[in-house]
Amino acid sequence: VATEFELIARYFTRPVSRAVLGVGDDAAIIEVPNGRQLAVTTDTLVAGTHFFHDAEPEPLGHKSLAVNLSDLAAMGAQPRYALLALTLPASDERWVAQFADGFLRLADGCDVELIGGDTSQGPLSITVTVLGELPKGRALTRAGARPGDDVWVSGVLGEAALAVRHLKGELRLKGPDLDHCLRRLHQPTPRVKLGERLLDVATAAIDISDGLVADLAHICERSGMSAEVEFERVPCHPKVMPLKGLPAVRDAVLAGGDDYELLFTAPTARRRDVAEISAATSVGITSIGRIVAGTGVRVTDGLGRKVELPSKGYEHFR
Ligand code: ADP
Ligand code: MG
Repeated sequence: VATEFELIARYFTRPVSRAVLGVGDDAAIIEVPNGRQLAVTTDTLVAGTHFFHDAEPEPLGHKSLAVNLSDLAAMGAQPRYALLALTLPASDERWVAQFADGFLRLADGCDVELIGGDTSQGPLSITVTVLGELPKGRALTRAGARPGDDVWVSGVLGEAALAVRHLKGELRLKGPDLDHCLRRLHQPTPRVKLGERLLDVATAAIDISDGLVADLAHICERSGMSAEVEFERVPCHPKVMPLKGLPAVRDAVLAGGDDYELLFTAPTARRRDVAEISAATSVGITSIGRIVAGTGVRVTDGLGRKVELPSKGYEHFR
């Protein structure tokens, strides 16, 4: 069996060009360009909590990096570097090779350099740290939403949650629809380019990991505002549209989580800019409501009646 050092040398040691020093020493060295700042974030995926123990390694490699890049996108940062801390039950080279394939393909696609990490033995768990660059003082936070701002969301919501419900046996998807939803769950696309473009336009942003309502509530809380959302306008797959009223589907769309779409606010005067960014990035962006003074999130139907909010987003220790 390969030792820790052999695994690192074979699968995680690659030449770097941007970093001053990559994998192989006690720490990596990076340069921060003049007038720029670094956004730094980390996320852990634990077997049994975030994924099944027998999950396919390649999509897992992709997802462990994707969820982190999604956080950078929500800050408007340009991804630059990644660190990977892997805890493995055993030295399974086939597993590590496939995991590395999924991880490094996304890293290459997003121009991210793997500059370090840690490899140890224990219950399967993956911690990824990413660093992204921003113009000084310009980060997109959760705190800037203002009364009158539109609330926007990228892509469509609920598909990953529908896949989870299918896997749990709570509903049945089949054929290409099932494949599509499973891909959305296992290999989410971080909205990196969109995030970078939103720097000039959005007043606040977050990526949807816990569910639309829960994550919009985070923006409201940090901004000291309230949000009104029209359920009819919340985007979902055309095939899901006619089923949106079903409680299981409504819950998936409003509270499903794992969407990794961007949720942001922008002044109404910037609607044209948002449309241009949508065209330039080929990502659909939909206005779903607005920011008003107050607290909390209100979701209404086409007749202005309050839509009962499903259970809250996922919370550990609850
Ligand atoms: P140390 O004991 O000094 O922390 P390690 O043996 O843990 O050194 O790591 C050796 C080098 O390999 C370091 O540069 C570390 O960042 C890198 N490294 C270890 N595991 C990984 C991994 N899974 N992915 C990328 N780099 C890794
Ligand atoms: Mg170490």
